[in-house]
Amino acid sequence: MSICDQSLPYVRAISPYQPGKPITQLAREMGIPVERIIKLASNENPLGMSPKARAAMERAAATLERYPDDFELKAAVAGHTGFGMERIVLGNGSNDLLDMAARVFLAPGRSTVFSQHAFAVYPLASLSVGAELIAVPAKDFGHDLDAMRAAIRPDTRLIWIANPNNPTGTFVPYPQLKAFMQSIPADVVVVLDEAYNEYLPPDVREDSKEWLAEFPNLLITRTFSKIYGLAGLRIGYGLASPEIADLMNRVRQPFNCNNLALAAARAALGDHEFVARSQELNRAGMTQLTEGFSRLGYEYIPSCGNFVAFRAGDAATVNQKLLKQGVIVRPVAGYGMPEWLRVTIGTEAENRQFLDALEKARG
Ligand SMILES: *Cc1c(COP(=O)(O)O)cnc(C)c1O
Repeated sequence: MSICDQSLPYVRAISPYQPGKPITQLAREMGIPVERIIKLASNENPLGMSPKARAAMERAAATLERYPDDFELKAAVAGHTGFGMERIVLGNGSNDLLDMAARVFLAPGRSTVFSQHAFAVYPLASLSVGAELIAVPAKDFGHDLDAMRAAIRPDTRLIWIANPNNPTGTFVPYPQLKAFMQSIPADVVVVLDEAYNEYLPPDVREDSKEWLAEFPNLLITRTFSKIYGLAGLRIGYGLASPEIADLMNRVRQPFNCNNLALAAARAALGDHEFVARSQELNRAGMTQLTEGFSRLGYEYIPSCGNFVAFRAGDAATVNQKLLKQGVIVRPVAGYGMPEWLRVTIGTEAENRQFLDALEKARG
């Protein structure tokens, strides 16, 4: 007998999340000095964090003997979004919120719908509570909402939508999303993961949170890990009906967000200059990378995020050649895209270093 036999079979079925390779790990594996390595693998902000957030975090370091009080960040999110605090749930990263949603609505005997090539955490969170997965084939690498609606079964309780999606960068225009919300059964919850919302070009951005009034079955998740540059602090927020927020708070760990994260996130929300600078850098970097792909003859998927997927062909080999040059990007074979790699938009110099390394890797 192995102790594993005593575990839940649906837990044994999980393949663990594969994070982007840390810089320190590549340095150990290949003996490359840390300063020569660039990591464009986890959609982190190349500008780092807002100086205001850093200052707030350093002040909060003096309070670490106390349990956290999340009131002020909730109030700041309420001010930022225009919603009452009863609609806001804070998470240890938005990942935590995805887990809470799964624990509230999914269980063995229930099913959940998500798209092929969608964010890996959806099947992970769903499997961890024993739900049955319904993966719907993508259309042009993005969510096929008609097919997702058709896949809903009587036992379906939750649908996952990433908009923009990671790792493809695809985006479903808001009018389509709204029509989808109106067309599905009212007893199915939709988790709308907007981790990259702040990177959307202004002309396609629409206030999806305005719909909360119309759809009590909608949960929107946002994060401080991406444009706000706080990935290492683990903090995000959810917006939902007061009923869903209340349910999530029942399964939430009492002190899931720490003092440093709460303080930094609150300051980051107010640093509009830093957000604008990050958006601008991303826009310029997106042009730099996509022009580079065109010049080198690589197909890529037009992206609304801070990353681009490109068709590398023998992606594993290209990835290995990039790693040898100290460039870390993200293989996405685990997302059903074995020929593709995903690269995060970096600084101008990082993007150039990546494109030079890619050109060498090619041949
Ligand atoms: C990065 C990312 C998140 C954010 O995860 P955190 O737990 O907030 O760091 C959520 N959803 C998607 C699609 C992402 O790419």
